[in-house]
Amino acid sequence: MKLQSVNPATGGLIAEYERHTEVDIEAAILAADKAFRAGRSDTPTRRADLLTKTAGILETRKEELAGLMTREMGKPITQARAEIEKCALVCRYYADNGEAFLADEMIESGKGRSFVRHLPLGPILAVMPWNYPFWQVFRFAAPNLMAGNTALLKHASNVTGCALAIEDVFREAGYPAGSFTTLKAGSDQVAGVLKDPRVRGATLTGSEKAGSALAGTAGGQVKKTVLELGGSDAFIVMPSADIGAAVDAGLASRLKNNGQSCIAAKRFFLHADIHDDFRERFLTGLSETVIGDPMDDATGLGPLVSRDACEMLHNQVSRTVSLGGRRIGAGQSLPETGAFFEPAILEDIPAASPAATEELFGPVAIFYPVRSLTEAIDHANDHRYGLGSSVWTTDESETEIAINRIEAGSTYINQMVSSDPKLPFGGVKKSGYGRELSMDGIREFTNRKTVAIK
Ligand code: NAP
Repeated sequence: MKLQSVNPATGGLIAEYERHTEVDIEAAILAADKAFRAGRSDTPTRRADLLTKTAGILETRKEELAGLMTREMGKPITQARAEIEKCALVCRYYADNGEAFLADEMIESGKGRSFVRHLPLGPILAVMPWNYPFWQVFRFAAPNLMAGNTALLKHASNVTGCALAIEDVFREAGYPAGSFTTLKAGSDQVAGVLKDPRVRGATLTGSEKAGSALAGTAGGQVKKTVLELGGSDAFIVMPSADIGAAVDAGLASRLKNNGQSCIAAKRFFLHADIHDDFRERFLTGLSETVIGDPMDDATGLGPLVSRDACEMLHNQVSRTVSLGGRRIGAGQSLPETGAFFEPAILEDIPAASPAATEELFGPVAIFYPVRSLTEAIDHANDHRYGLGSSVWTTDESETEIAINRIEAGSTYINQMVSSDPKLPFGGVKKSGYGRELSMDGIREFTNRKTVAIK
């Protein structure tokens, strides 16, 4: 079957792509391996120069690339432009800091001069999702190219235009053939790539199901993996918080990327003293959100990625309601065509319902009233996922308790969770393992070689 790109705002077919054959994939792995061997003695300065050039190209081609992204997966164009800018930022970040992050670590051992050196591993497979089709790829590619690895990208099947454009950006920047290759492949072709001995590791950003399948194969091959999977992040608001700021951040976090962000605030735990006030202001914010054509600068909420995604979310919401939950819609009228979904709040959440146990990937906020921080944290932790968390309080002891007790890869206080090249990013529990970004991210796929010289 061909890979298809469909515009979720219109339902129109954008393009179809032939998949790569096994012969094409073999050639791509061979080229990735050759490029790795040829480039492994490149100086950090040369690697940094290439990344800096890549950043410049992203900035120059911002409008074109952002438009492509919005047409393929429906995010508002303003957010698509910001995504391209962030990709340029992460390239510059590793160009500027990569050499220092990978510098030898001297260790006093009594065995002469001893140290740890960070050496690249080889071709790394990256299996990526459609929701941040540029950012997810660049946050993997920038540190790994800086470390001297080469990259094989298997992107989500619905964003092949973006995948090919990314390959083109690296080519234009002057990377040698094989340094970064897009494989036009379906998920059934992933295991074959991973089993090839020349491929030295794999990273997957996506669903728990896909991550578990990939890690299963990698485990059989004794290959390192990094998994960045789903989340149902808690957003806890205590009475001492600035409620206006919390509402604004909660709305931004829940609606970002049309509600399809792994680190979106999905479960809101609201202290009883501020619950009604927060709920009323949040509903007002939802009803004022501009829904429409994602290519329009004024649009705040575009369509979900596909009709299937709409159906799945509808199904999760109606099953929650049929079990006793309550849905409060924002009362917005939706465009007639396209995969649009009315934003809503869900409350009175039954314990075994999809809202309580699954990830809702769209503009639906799950509200829980709570009587204390401890109740909020216990409830927040009672979930398979542990990606991010956001806590709103001005009480220092509450802040400490939240940091120490919430089971998540990050806790942001009085701000929404967001990724930043300078800060490590990743999850615990079924949200995955390993870290991207910062110094942690560039070291994941390196051989930390111990050296002792007498
Ligand atoms: P997905 O269906 O898991 O797809 C992600 C990637 O995995 C795609 O390239 C997909 O290929 C591939 N894939 C699917 N099944 C596979 C399998 N059995 N073996 C190997 N590869 C497989 O996820 P999605 O719907 O695109 O993305 C949404 C999910 O990603 C959400 O759960 C979200 O929270 C999570 N996410 C996490 C992070 C994070 O940093 N933690 C960031 C963004 C998104 P095909 O497209 O060909 O199926």
